[in-house]
Amino acid sequence: MPTDTLVKQTLVYEGKAKKVWTTEYPELYISEFKDDLTAFNGEKKSSEAGKGALNNKISTELFKFLNTQGIPTHFVEMMDETHMLHKRADVILIEVIVRNIAAGSLSKNLGIETGEILPFTLVEFDYKNDALGDPKINDQHCLLLNLVKDVSELDTIRDMARKINTLLQAFYAERNLTLVDFKLEFGKDAEGNIILIDELSPDNFRLWDSESGESMDKDRFRKGLGGLKVAYEEVLNRILGEKK
Ligand code: 5GP
Repeated sequence: MPTDTLVKQTLVYEGKAKKVWTTEYPELYISEFKDDLTAFNGEKKSSEAGKGALNNKISTELFKFLNTQGIPTHFVEMMDETHMLHKRADVILIEVIVRNIAAGSLSKNLGIETGEILPFTLVEFDYKNDALGDPKINDQHCLLLNLVKDVSELDTIRDMARKINTLLQAFYAERNLTLVDFKLEFGKDAEGNIILIDELSPDNFRLWDSESGESMDKDRFRKGLGGLKVAYEEVLNRILGEKK
């Protein structure tokens, strides 16, 4: 189907970092990446001109890479600087957190020193619910809240999250970036398949420069370090690396 003439129709969702619109095709949506920045469940707010475009470009490259590696995703194409065309999906209201190195809430909640390499990849689930502050939940909570049909869907999500981690850890390592942890979201496409959705950007990944250990992600905003846009540009440049 021709996609170059598609335009945004009805706004169906506005989140902290994105707006999602319908198109003339019921199974295709457009996401618009915003420059807004929020942290601590919306308590800290700001905006950085150009951040949305950087996240769109970084997400596009990572979705393309994962698609070539056999991971089903919602990505169709980048339309322009801030817009991405993707499949419609029924969002599964679970934020899937994958961790390789202790940082953030893991260090805060469990007292594990930031920077400690975990003995195995940790996969956690948070309930995607701003009003409740995205609380941590286990498999039984997921079933209790009807977030998935059965445990096998959670196993599929965990398997996909681990595969994505293995692929992205190697991808970033080649670019001198250490993948500390990240948040993924999944949904169901029109055929009921579980696919990777949302965005893949430094807004939801912790990335450290492998040599200096410097944060190249949203922690620059969370911790008030400054230099967020320069860091995101550097991530994009390293991702594009060989194509320059
Ligand atoms: P933590 O639980 O340590 O705050 O976050 C773990 C990882 O998941 C970090 O890479 C963080 O960016 C990401 N993450 C967790 N919750 C959210 C969220 O609600 N929004 C975004 N953008 N990222 C999140």
